[in-house]
Amino acid sequence: MTDHCCEAMTTHVNVGCDQHDDPYACPDALVDFSPQFQEYGLIIHDGGTSSITIDFCPWCGRRLPESQRDRWFDELERRGIDPWEDELPAEFRDGRWLAAPPQA
Ligand SMILES: [Zn+2]
Ligand SMILES: [Zn+2]
Repeated sequence: MTDHCCEAMTTHVNVGCDQHDDPYACPDALVDFSPQFQEYGLIIHDGGTSSITIDFCPWCGRRLPESQRDRWFDELERRGIDPWEDELPAEFRDGRWLAAPPQA
């Protein structure tokens, strides 16, 4: 499990509601964390899957990790994987790819 900046953030990211698998469908879910991008978003409950990416924790005020979204795309491109067409390797669906040693 990913460590977050504070207990409040951890609680909100892992709200774990037993009625809704999808945090966007759950009125109790406030924050959506995308481990593969290291991005935190405030969920907008408009019936869709919109969120606003946040740079600071709303609870403790700490700066959140920098988004790795661009790197994610770069890394896939380097491996010749098209994220829209090809099947993603498992480590690219969560934060594991970030721990992979950089390949020359
Ligand atoms: Zn719920
Ligand atoms: Zn925090």
